[in-house]
Amino acid sequence: MRLSTPDKKMINPLSKEYETVIVGGGIAGLCTAEIFARSGIKTLLVEKAEKLCMETSGLHHEWFHFGSLYSIFPNNQFLRTMVGGIDDLLLYYRDFESMNLRIDGCGKLLTVAKSSPWIRKDNLKYVITTTDDEDFSLSNPDNSSNFMYKMGMKFLWNKAIKQFVARHNRFYKYDWRKGCSSHYIPKAGWLDYSEKFINKFDDSEISLNPETHVSMESYDSPMYALHIISDLTRSFLSYGGEIRTATEFEEYQNKRDGKRVILSDGSVVKTKRLILASGNNLAKQTKNKIKVKSVVSPLIIVYPRVCSSNVVRLTPFMDQTINHLKHSINGKDYSLIGGGYFANKDDNEAIEKAGFDLLNKAKAIFSRVADAEVVHLYYGTKTEIISSVKKRNYLYRIEKVDNDVYVTVPGKFSLAFSLAVNTFLKIMGHYPNTYVTYDKEMDVSQYVGLTKHKALIDRLENVSHELKVETVY
Ligand SMILES: Cc1cc2nc3c(=O)[nH]c(=O)nc-3n(C[C@H](O)[C@H](O)[C@H](O)COP(=O)(O)OP(=O)(O)OC[C@H]3O[C@@H](n4cnc5c(N)ncnc54)[C@H](O)[C@@H]3O)c2cc1C
Repeated sequence: MRLSTPDKKMINPLSKEYETVIVGGGIAGLCTAEIFARSGIKTLLVEKAEKLCMETSGLHHEWFHFGSLYSIFPNNQFLRTMVGGIDDLLLYYRDFESMNLRIDGCGKLLTVAKSSPWIRKDNLKYVITTTDDEDFSLSNPDNSSNFMYKMGMKFLWNKAIKQFVARHNRFYKYDWRKGCSSHYIPKAGWLDYSEKFINKFDDSEISLNPETHVSMESYDSPMYALHIISDLTRSFLSYGGEIRTATEFEEYQNKRDGKRVILSDGSVVKTKRLILASGNNLAKQTKNKIKVKSVVSPLIIVYPRVCSSNVVRLTPFMDQTINHLKHSINGKDYSLIGGGYFANKDDNEAIEKAGFDLLNKAKAIFSRVADAEVVHLYYGTKTEIISSVKKRNYLYRIEKVDNDVYVTVPGKFSLAFSLAVNTFLKIMGHYPNTYVTYDKEMDVSQYVGLTKHKALIDRLENVSHELKVETVY
């Protein structure tokens, strides 16, 4: 791609030279920048906001996906990628003192206690719908899924759940000292199935029929995004990485001796290669060279907390799913509620509907939402590189769009670690350094802030009843 020089703009003389410039200081850009810097590559990270990880990477649930939820998909690829993410965490991130995932003497995974841990020890629990639930009723007018899909699911759901349970059993049986979990865990078969994982569902805080639901432990956990982002930033800076916040990437030019990257402050930066990790700006920045889909999803913050467990309702009908994560900041306990609701980024009506559908579902399932002091609905935009407009893609992707120009999306916050390792491998042709040493005391508060839900609850003082719906997304 050849782009023209911005006309009439004052351009500073060539200010600096880098081997890699990364655009976008979300979790994808930050993780990738850190892995390049620790492997001895002179790297610049450019972010248009005042701080890092304030867009999608600051708006999410803080749910660390290890593949537990996504093992419900029949396709093995989701699970393979997500458990492969655990192998990458254990190999490339074990030197971060607060990366608290460890392997014990018997090869089992465990989350150890740390003062600023990356991962919380409070696993999510599934409430799984059985086929005699209302969801599957062919005459239920509330359910928008079509008749044929429901008919199909009535036959397939039990089989899907059995495979889901079998995969969980393989996960728990796995000896993590062997590495390469992604070759073993997804291949679970009938011999791995055991009913011992399935329990009776009974929870007075959740208005779901105990006769038509069962419960099961998940191996996904909530995380502390702030601790992860702070540690990655410390490591990046300790290895000589440079960050320019409040600076926007405008365009790049191909020259015989590399690239010129033009920034909004008028400076021009020379680099060998450019990585675009700019989330929902990717389509524009690559002049639509890649197929990108941006979907908008609502989340609800409720204070005080309405349920004492981290829970997800599993059903084959996306519009009937709901999840609840409990969070806390400075002694204030609150709930974060999401579900399978999303809409196309250009369809305002559908976005509004997704928000209100989630709000109604949250009120129906967690009765204490109605009396909560604060109910705050907001939206986040998720970008996916897709092969078909109809399909969602929850996995990371790395694409070459020009000579020495690459585009990356993580699919999930928790896949950014594998994304970084594999971006490095794809571009450099070898694996990055596995070890990290960094200044653990470095103050990075100028670059790092709280996730949106934590910041909102942290600011609360003497609230009375408040329902706020954000319309900006
Ligand atoms: C509602 C919601 C809930 C989610 N929950 C979870 C969850 O619980 N767990 C999980 O693992 N994943 C979750 N996800 C997915 C996850 O949040 C995203 O996959 C991930 O944060 C995307 O990271 P990113 O770095 O690609 O994008 P972003 O975080 O959006 O980063 C892109 C960055 O590029 C910057 N940028 C854009 N254009 C320019 C430019 N021209 N110049 C300079 N900078 C630029 C932006 O300011 C931004 O900081 C959720 C997503 C949504 C929408």
